[in-house]
Amino acid sequence: MKFQGHVKSRLPNAGTSIFAVMSGLANEVGAINLSQGFPDFPISMELVELVNQYMHKGFNQYAPMPGVLALREAIAAKAFDTFGITYDPATEINITAGATEGIFCVITAMIHPGDEAVIIEPAYDSYAPAVELCGGTVRYSSLMVPSYSVNWPEVKSLINSRTKMIMINTPHNPTGSVLSAADLKELDHITRNSNIVVMSDEVYEHLIFDGTRHESVCYYPELAERSFVIGSFGKTFHTTGWKTGFIMAPAVLMAEVRKVHQFVVFASNTPIQYAVADYLKNKENYLQLPAFYQQKRDLFTGLVKGSRFKIIPSYGTYFQLLDYSAISDEKEMDFAVRVTKEFGVASVPVSPFYHDKQDNHVLRFCFAKTEKTLIKAAEILCTI
Ligand code: PMP
Ligand code: GLN
Repeated sequence: MKFQGHVKSRLPNAGTSIFAVMSGLANEVGAINLSQGFPDFPISMELVELVNQYMHKGFNQYAPMPGVLALREAIAAKAFDTFGITYDPATEINITAGATEGIFCVITAMIHPGDEAVIIEPAYDSYAPAVELCGGTVRYSSLMVPSYSVNWPEVKSLINSRTKMIMINTPHNPTGSVLSAADLKELDHITRNSNIVVMSDEVYEHLIFDGTRHESVCYYPELAERSFVIGSFGKTFHTTGWKTGFIMAPAVLMAEVRKVHQFVVFASNTPIQYAVADYLKNKENYLQLPAFYQQKRDLFTGLVKGSRFKIIPSYGTYFQLLDYSAISDEKEMDFAVRVTKEFGVASVPVSPFYHDKQDNHVLRFCFAKTEKTLIKAAEILCTI
């Protein structure tokens, strides 16, 4: 079909997301897909049964706009239990169509034309476009390589009277780094007595290793008072395709987000919300995740140790960065494509997570895979 008019793009610089590009290529050439982050193993049959039961019982119509109350209550109970923080399920918790929708609604509700937001790169790809769609401007700070720690003096230098929001993400996609208590205290310090709100993307809250505590903003009451916390059951219950997430925030902030959420999706999937509410009651269902994924990380890194890739430590998430500078000086995108096509293992280049496509010769590999997949992929990587 031919459109005769002129389209002025609202996102002129946006192409197709790197996750779609690399997964598409992996499927096309039949490569082992360690690119886009999603598990290749079955999810809990108990959870599937719960969804089925709720569907059979007739829970198939619109959920309440903020989400099923039983699920909001379960999330509030879990937050109290884990962090000792009280969120009111009625006014301070909202269920979203995946964390992505939550992120979009938070940014859209907060950013006015002319506002600025600080994003720490490499960063998840959905933050900046949402700021731009609102007429805001993004100020970028880079994590310090190779530790991937936050350069707080730089973040501080980006703050001015127009700064409306700072985005953080811990455990961090794509690097696998985590924020420390000192980082959270610094964030608390630099945003105190200001109108700056924090969007804390904590979708990998349960994917953290070596006994480290996940440093949620929820542990810091004054910081939590000016923060949106973003969560995703896609990560916690291996159900990325179900697109069910949540936001926690003080009532005044949440009221603004709900105004947007109601016009973006109105409400998310009903039977899944009821099922997740039940499934959350057994804490083991999420408390076993660190050990479960740490075993996969250790298996993968143990095998890749024999290769020419350099392992950059992963402290959380289901991602492992590998530095290939000893193998090639190709650009990350070119090397990732070549390894997918020639060797049959797909990964994600890190450069698309930077607005200036900074290239440090590192690729991201997802280890949310069966042992068999990880062993096969590592064997191939050892031949490169
Ligand atoms: N934030 C980060 C850091 C992520 O890695 C993801 C997963 N793609 C999301 C948000 C979005 O999560 P969801 O799939 O629940 O929309
Ligand atoms: N979060 C996943 C990743 O980082 C996938 C996200 C997506 O496909 N949009 O790979």
